[in-house]
Amino acid sequence: QRREAASAPLTPGALADGTPVPLLANLGSGDAAASAVELGAEGVGLFRTEFLFLDAGSTAPSVEEQTQHYVRVLEAFAGKKVTVRVLDAGADKPLPFLNDAPEENPALGLRGLRALRASENILRDQLTALAAADAQTDADLWVMAPMVSTLEETEYFVTRAHEFGLKTAGIMVEVPSIALLAKPALAASDFASIGTNDLTQYTLAADRLLGTVASFQDPWHPAVLRLISEVGQAGAESGKPVGICGEAAADPLLAVVLVGLGATTLSMSPSALADVRLSLARFDSNAAQRLASIALDAHDAASARSAVTDAAPSLQ
Ligand code: PEP
Ligand code: MG
Repeated sequence: QRREAASAPLTPGALADGTPVPLLANLGSGDAAASAVELGAEGVGLFRTEFLFLDAGSTAPSVEEQTQHYVRVLEAFAGKKVTVRVLDAGADKPLPFLNDAPEENPALGLRGLRALRASENILRDQLTALAAADAQTDADLWVMAPMVSTLEETEYFVTRAHEFGLKTAGIMVEVPSIALLAKPALAASDFASIGTNDLTQYTLAADRLLGTVASFQDPWHPAVLRLISEVGQAGAESGKPVGICGEAAADPLLAVVLVGLGATTLSMSPSALADVRLSLARFDSNAAQRLASIALDAHDAASARSAVTDAAPSLQ
C-alpha cells in the first residue's frame, strides 16, 4: 500500500481555483532527473550546464560529450518541458577555455552571455549539441541565456538559437536593466525566466557571495518584487511565459506572491516542490494578487514578509 501511495502521480501545481502553475525542477546534471520526476517535477525550469564545463579540465567538452549529457536529462522528461541555460561562467568560476582574465568585480564583468560572446565557438558548440540532443529526444526543449542586460543581447541570443534550429529561445531576467525593458525584451524572445538570486544581488548592489552583505540578499525586498512585477505584466500583455527559477520560488509563501505578480511557472530544487505545491493550493488567483500588492506596498523585505504572513490566513 505504501508503495502505491509513493508511485501515485502527484497532482500538478495549481492555485485553489484550478489555475495551473507548473512546478519545475532546477537541475545541475542528468543524475538528479529521476528523483526530480519522482518528487513531481512537471519539467525542468533551469538546467545549469556549467558543471559539465567546470568538470571538463583544460579543454571544453566536445559537441558529442555535451550531446550525451543533454540527452540524459531530455530523456528523463520525455514529453515535458526542459529549459537549458547555456554556460553561465565568469571570473568567479574561471574556465581555461574562456576568456578568463582576472577581474576586480566578477559579478559585474564578463560573465554569462557576455563571456560566451567573447568566445563564440563555445556558444556555437553548445547550441549545436543542444540541437542534436533535441533531434534525438521527445522533450520540449527551451534554451535561455544568463546575465542578459540589453535588448541587443536578447536579439543576438534568440536569433542565434533559432538559427541553430532551437525553436523556443528566451532570456533570464537577472539584471534590473532588462527587467525594466521587459516589454520589448519579451517581444524579442519566446519567454523569460527570472533568476531572483542575481536579480536581488544586482538590485541591492550586494555581492551574493559576500557574507558581510548577506542580509541584503532577500528576494522579499519590494524593489526586487517591483522589477518582477514589470516582467509579469509584460508577460500577461504579450501572452509569453514568465517563469521564476531563483531560490525565491522555493519559499512557499513568496511563491504565491510571485504567481500574483504574474509568474506562470515556478522552478526550484526538487526538495522544495511538495511544500510549494501545498501552499499554492491554498490560495486562488485573487488572493495571490492581493498578497502581491501587499508585498509591493511594503518598504523593506522584513515588512513585506510579515505583512504577507499576517494577511495570508484570511485569504485562504
Ligand atoms: C539566479 O540567479 O537566480 C539563478 C537561478 O541562476 P544562478 O543561481 O545559477 O546564478
Ligand atoms: Mg543567476
